[in-house]
Amino acid sequence: MSEKNYLPTSWYNIMADLPELPPPALHPLTHEPLTAADMAGLFPMGCIEQEVSTERYIPIPEEVREIYSLWRPTPLRRAHRLEKALGTPAQIYYKYEGISPVGSHKPNTAVAQAYYNKREGITRLTTETGAGQWGSALAMAGAFMGIGVKVYMVRASYDLKPGRRLMMQAFGATCTPSPSNETESGRAVLAQDPDSPGSLGIAISEAVEVALQDPKAKYSLGSVLNHVLIHQSVIGEEALRQMEDAGAYPDVVIGCIGGGSNFSGIAFPFLGERLRDGKKTRFVAVEPSACPKVTKGKYTYDYGDTAQLTPMMKMHTLGHTFVPPAIHAGGLRYHGMAPLVSLGNQLGLIEARAYQQLGCFDAAMQFIHTEGIIPAPETSHAIRAVIDEALDAKEKEEERVILFNFSGHGFLDLTSYQAYLNGELTNYEYPVKLVEEALSHLPKI
Ligand SMILES: *Cc1c(COP(=O)(O)O)cnc(C)c1O
Repeated sequence: MSEKNYLPTSWYNIMADLPELPPPALHPLTHEPLTAADMAGLFPMGCIEQEVSTERYIPIPEEVREIYSLWRPTPLRRAHRLEKALGTPAQIYYKYEGISPVGSHKPNTAVAQAYYNKREGITRLTTETGAGQWGSALAMAGAFMGIGVKVYMVRASYDLKPGRRLMMQAFGATCTPSPSNETESGRAVLAQDPDSPGSLGIAISEAVEVALQDPKAKYSLGSVLNHVLIHQSVIGEEALRQMEDAGAYPDVVIGCIGGGSNFSGIAFPFLGERLRDGKKTRFVAVEPSACPKVTKGKYTYDYGDTAQLTPMMKMHTLGHTFVPPAIHAGGLRYHGMAPLVSLGNQLGLIEARAYQQLGCFDAAMQFIHTEGIIPAPETSHAIRAVIDEALDAKEKEEERVILFNFSGHGFLDLTSYQAYLNGELTNYEYPVKLVEEALSHLPKI
């Protein structure tokens, strides 16, 4: 099969195969089910239609597919040397999304979203970014589509990761640390805590506020929403064909979860096969112990942002006011989880695990020393779970096929590795008190 043929012509939509649909998103003020008109201030119709679609396959526009082909299909690799080092009978496969121009899976949806916005005459996009991967992906997509991009970057990462900010600027985007003085939402947070490290919830409020004020601007979200998960399915759709050519089928599929998009991207096409064909594949979503929304949060309606500007979604959440400890995996510091991943967990289709960051960096080192690629701190959470699965298979003397999403490389996260190598990296216990406090602010539905 030629490389080109691995790149699918359609995205996959899990909503066609789930035994039930997630409860509707609710309007932040009226608490009524959200209508397309409510969403139109923030998102282009192309994305709104996908948000509620139950079509199994959605064609990828040719212009998007052409841009994808700059780096897609991404390689499916087998980690032979890691398997050998672990002495495991398990087979470990990974999809290397780090090969994209900005080094992560994020452009899969950034390019699609910029395309639909351009098609509808939008000239400016606002967004938030945690570690900077999403901001750089949208900055690149904006450059391709001729759309201006304004990014609010979580302060903790802005200070720690100047490389990401420079990358956004190289693509022509503007990047501001959040909380900022530019918005009402930002000023409200700074009034309470002038040294706030920021959070994705706060940065989203700033970006949404700015988009709502400009009719030629819309807001773009890098994870969580159904249309984002649909765009990321390109990863799993490729992997289905590539695994078939490798002569293997995964017993377990693993990914890290910030908002749930890279995990869903690799997992949902395989989950669809389980739901349709009775396959027995397990799905493991990995989160940081410092921000454990699925393993410790509540499954309930909550806002997507701190200032309560976004619709409410039924999801696993630690509370929209929760500000997670400043762990190095900035992309996993989000209080909520994609409604579709949350529902999958509720239905017993998706397991969740939480890990401390030190163990994740240990796993990253093992991967670096055997396979040679430096993973993003986010990705190291998936690798921790992969190694644990492989060691479990060894103990049980079981053959096991493991597939994971290598969501991004860590070439611009080397300061995190510096902290680890200097022995300065610490674990953060699950912040019980902070979460209790944040959960007390959940909306009453
Ligand atoms: C953003 C990001 C994540 C977390 O976001 P998801 O939407 O859960 O995928 C994980 N890994 C990398 C490399 C990222 O950039």
